[in-house]
Amino acid sequence: MKISEVRCRSALSHSRLPGLKYALNPYRGCSHGCKYCYASAVLRETRPWGEFVDVKRNAPTILAKELRTKEKGNVGIGTVTDAYQPLEERFEITRMCLEQLLRHGFPVSIQTKSSLILRDADLICEFEEIEVGFTLTMLDEKWRRAFEPGASPSKDRLAAMKSLSSRGIRTWAFIGPILPQVTERDLEGLLDGIADAGASDVLVDKLNMKRDTWAKLGPVLEEHEMEGDWRNLVRDKAYFEKVAGRIFDSCEAKGINCLSAF
Ligand code: SF4
Repeated sequence: MKISEVRCRSALSHSRLPGLKYALNPYRGCSHGCKYCYASAVLRETRPWGEFVDVKRNAPTILAKELRTKEKGNVGIGTVTDAYQPLEERFEITRMCLEQLLRHGFPVSIQTKSSLILRDADLICEFEEIEVGFTLTMLDEKWRRAFEPGASPSKDRLAAMKSLSSRGIRTWAFIGPILPQVTERDLEGLLDGIADAGASDVLVDKLNMKRDTWAKLGPVLEEHEMEGDWRNLVRDKAYFEKVAGRIFDSCEAKGINCLSAF
């Protein structure tokens, strides 16, 4: 893993994601190394994703300046790369950014695959408006290690979600992407865990294949003898709708609001 400390010229960028006015990404690159990640395509990044991280060392200072003049609006943290990836434990850039956002009274929405977020529960609980989303694509640890090797185990994410929910923080789950033959295994167990963790909403998305996705997924699928089936299923919108339908039905029965992103 190549780690570089870099200086950014701006911290906040305008976001086109629903419900967000700004996006804040304290790191470029992500050591979670998810096999389905398409952040490199979004950023037009040519370095091998999962093998480098740029740490935006001055992001909290730049953010503090921007917050003095920017119009108030919801700030999405970790919209492209995970702001609670393991390096955050050492650098605390996300924590320092949260301190600035709290000081200036900006609403915040965080999305992560890491239980490290619990370290900042003290700050999170001080916000008037904040929500935390956890990406959860499967329950089984074997599959988590295969597809999301650097991220927290799903059970740890659920425990973090439960801990934040119990402190009055609005939490939600992002079941995305639906991974063919993986997400649907023990789907009910995953949804039970999400309900038990107190999530108010679930957002579902299908798998989006970008230019280099097959190159990263191929070895994992080959190892588990799933490549042939996946080549058919990733093109089959009806398949994703069927899995999403199961999620919708289960969420309805559990009293959780469910939305689809596709
Ligand atoms: S956590 Fe998000 S940004 Fe990081 S590798 Fe996984 S999908 Fe990509």
